[in-house]
Amino acid sequence: GEGLPRPEQTRVIVVANQKGGVGKTTTTVNLAASLALHGARVLVIDLDPQGNASTALGIDHHADVPSIYDVLVESKPLAEVVQPVVDVEGLFCAPATIDLAGAEIELVSLVARESRLQRAIQAYEQPLDYILIDCPPSLGLLTVNALVAGAEVLIPIQCEYYALEGLGQLLRNVDLVRGHLNPALHVSTILLTMYDGRTRLASQVAEEVRSHFGDEVLRTSIPRSVRISEAPSYGQTVLTYDPGSSGALSYLEAAREIALKGIGVSYDASQAHIGA
Ligand code: ADP
Ligand code: MG
Repeated sequence: GEGLPRPEQTRVIVVANQKGGVGKTTTTVNLAASLALHGARVLVIDLDPQGNASTALGIDHHADVPSIYDVLVESKPLAEVVQPVVDVEGLFCAPATIDLAGAEIELVSLVARESRLQRAIQAYEQPLDYILIDCPPSLGLLTVNALVAGAEVLIPIQCEYYALEGLGQLLRNVDLVRGHLNPALHVSTILLTMYDGRTRLASQVAEEVRSHFGDEVLRTSIPRSVRISEAPSYGQTVLTYDPGSSGALSYLEAAREIALKGIGVSYDASQAHIGA
């Protein structure tokens, strides 16, 4: 793939929105694959007990597989659970198994319960350009662990009615974690997903989101695309499932925008490889 500037330090990006079905997992795996295809080394941490990100990356995550549960609850080194993603060089995944469903409760009684993921990441010695963390649709201790571990929050927003509803709660949690546990934490990126430019509703929601969040909203939005929704059932991202599709191109473009923003280069939409 086309090379992009690599960050000086590992960027840890938390993909969060406590609403389900807004495109968190889809965005995590496809952005991660896009960044890897652009030449970066990328780790996806699956923090949702459903394990959808692990499935979409074709990673074995049956009950006995060493997983992020072991890292969080049993203090197993992250390096012992990370698996390479077949077909995408530079892409890795720390899978979630069904055990993780219990972690929300088990973490409560553990020491440093909010910072266990942060510690695991700090102890991980393999060089990485990006870590993307796929959060569950809740604001419990798993998501708090992600917010303590990362500096950046990426919020996918589905362009539909009530798109902004519930976001206040997420933003308050980000403020709380910043105030008490992780001063570097900030919402760096908003990504509009499942965007259908033909509908008035989608463009109204997009306008509302842009007026609310301004520069954090990526110029690139992700179109609604059947190819994107089909890819996970083949254990693939859309980047390998259908590399020429609009969905693949939009995620590559979003990755480019994120990489450039990270080094302070403002994004010139007129140079976009696809229509904005
Ligand atoms: P979340 O992780 O927030 O619950 P998902 O990423 O699992 O959301 O997406 C929810 C559903 O929407 C999935 O079935 C997924 O395949 C589908 N989906 C996500 N993004 C798109 C898109 N751009 N076009 C079509 N379907 C999509
Ligand atoms: Mg998900």
